[in-house]
Amino acid sequence: MEMPPKNNREMRKSNPQNSAQKAARKKNAILRYSLAGSLIVVGIILLGVALARLAGVSFGASTVQEKPISAVLTMAQQHKLKSVSLSGNDVTATAADGTQIHAVKEEGQPVTPFFTQNGVTVDVQDPQSGQWVQGLEALVLILLVVGSMVFFMRRSGGMGGQAAPFARSKAKRFSESRPSILFKDVAGVEEAKMELQEIVEFLKHPARFTQMGARTPKGVLLVGAPGTGKTLISRAVAGEAGVSFYSVSGSEFVEMFVGVGAARVRDLFKEAKDHSPCIIFIDEIDAVGRQRTNSGMTGNDEREQTLNQLLVEMDGFDKETNIVVIAATNRPDVLDPALLRPGRFDRRVMLDKPDIRGRLAILNVHAKGKPMAQGVLMEDLARQTAGFSGADLANLLNEAALLAARNGLTEIQKPHLDESILRVMAGPERKSRVITEAEKSIIAYHEVGHAIVMRSVPGADPVQKVSAIARGMALGITVQAPAEDRYLLRRSELLAKMAGAMGGRAAEEVIFGDITTGASQDIEYVTGIARRMVCEFGMTPLGNVALKADADGTNPFSAETAAKIDAEVSMLVNQAYDTALNILREKKEKLIEISEHLIQVETIDGVELDSMLFAA
Ligand code: ADP
Ligand code: ZN
Ligand code: MG
Repeated sequence: MEMPPKNNREMRKSNPQNSAQKAARKKNAILRYSLAGSLIVVGIILLGVALARLAGVSFGASTVQEKPISAVLTMAQQHKLKSVSLSGNDVTATAADGTQIHAVKEEGQPVTPFFTQNGVTVDVQDPQSGQWVQGLEALVLILLVVGSMVFFMRRSGGMGGQAAPFARSKAKRFSESRPSILFKDVAGVEEAKMELQEIVEFLKHPARFTQMGARTPKGVLLVGAPGTGKTLISRAVAGEAGVSFYSVSGSEFVEMFVGVGAARVRDLFKEAKDHSPCIIFIDEIDAVGRQRTNSGMTGNDEREQTLNQLLVEMDGFDKETNIVVIAATNRPDVLDPALLRPGRFDRRVMLDKPDIRGRLAILNVHAKGKPMAQGVLMEDLARQTAGFSGADLANLLNEAALLAARNGLTEIQKPHLDESILRVMAGPERKSRVITEAEKSIIAYHEVGHAIVMRSVPGADPVQKVSAIARGMALGITVQAPAEDRYLLRRSELLAKMAGAMGGRAAEEVIFGDITTGASQDIEYVTGIARRMVCEFGMTPLGNVALKADADGTNPFSAETAAKIDAEVSMLVNQAYDTALNILREKKEKLIEISEHLIQVETIDGVELDSMLFAA
């Protein structure tokens, strides 16, 4: 029963994991396994050596002959031995000609007197200490094994130096493609295209830039919410220029095996250089490029090394390097300033959510090849989809096509589009959800309460749809569509939005005299607006003072001010609730009539709502 705020549609995180990313991830896995595999082999060999030593087997001693103890005793008798060393039952003899002979005597067999009688010097070693020495040897070897493992891991990602050979043995580990997408496939972002046209020119005709002594473009930061077409437009730059496109994701670097991130960056740039001119696309750059902290205990070593390597690679570009690195993020505020310095990502291209003309253009791109029924106008659809991203719009048309096909139709009709808008906003209907009659009644009154208040406050936007069917996370839904895209909101409009959002709970109170948990989203939404009115918009008696918490979470104001803020916020919220209560008490008859109708039909549209609400 939440009210989906049109300008605040964060509920749907469109995060299409493209197959390129998946492929790259798979390749990481292969790399990881091959690296780990090599280490395991090396480890097993060294461990084997260590254990063999521990067991008393000697290596590299080809001059030591193994003989039965009787043979050694015979040699002593024949005066062929110089000296003998005893350690437990181990007998190591040095022959007159210098050769070493090893034999094992039996437990308790006395040999020392026999040797001394025959003039052979006997050196008796404490077998305990001998084992101890061997143990130490083994320990050293084991340390060596562990040490070399760590060494290889660190080295393959270390500060400079070559990656371990096995880290680069896989021939193609980066997703390379030659996109056929062109600028004409990316709609509604004309400014971004204009700015990126220069990159296209550079990749096509680098000489023109170098001849003029102009600094060649190296890095572009694409900033925009998810689904605004960052990946798409980057691919289009490659498509327009006819160059290769390398794509990696920042999060891949960080989640990887220790020390591999930096090595991967190095390999990526090396491979890109071999295939230049080309574009390197780094999605989610904020995953690696977050501001470095000075606080010691970060454990972010890995990420920092990766970031440093990226900076080193970009600084290493010279006039001959025909590579442009395009990075995408929706959090430019968290990026390390080092990334944004001249010669790095010094160009910033913004991709906004499209306005009505942009939406129309995007809809037209994606409507190609999808037959629409007579009378379906993309203009109407564009008007109804304020706040939708490009990905949302693509999704919407795709859903509509699927619905039409499921109904055995060959054309997309208006109801399919209407349903798809709601799906994109709140998820598919969940008719299977078991809802009792009593609950259904509460949900219907709650939603109609929203709708009536929304239509009754001054400056209200039209209501598009009221539904008592569960959809996604919501039990019911009331959709209010602004008549146009809005960039500025008046104080009175914010108050109207807050009252509308409180209409659900107010209806429960007016009709049932009790309230439910169904309003939690509404409350969150209203509180959010109230707090921003106080702290950001300067719309309360606290005045035109910025009262936002600092980036590190500390409040740049006194405790008294904090208390005043809280008081203002709750006053605004209470006012909104009172406004809603007053409207619904006054229109209680309409509330009952429309809600009972909604219980029967489950969904009513804006026209029907208005005709019932405003009928005499
Ligand atoms: P981002 O990388 O910003 O999250 P994507 O580039 O992955 O967004 O966009 C996802 C999909 O949405 C694209 O493949 C395309 O189908 C559609 N889309 C997004 N923006 C546009 C646009 N401006 N024009 C046409 N289609 C778009
Ligand atoms: Zn609600
Ligand atoms: Mg993307």
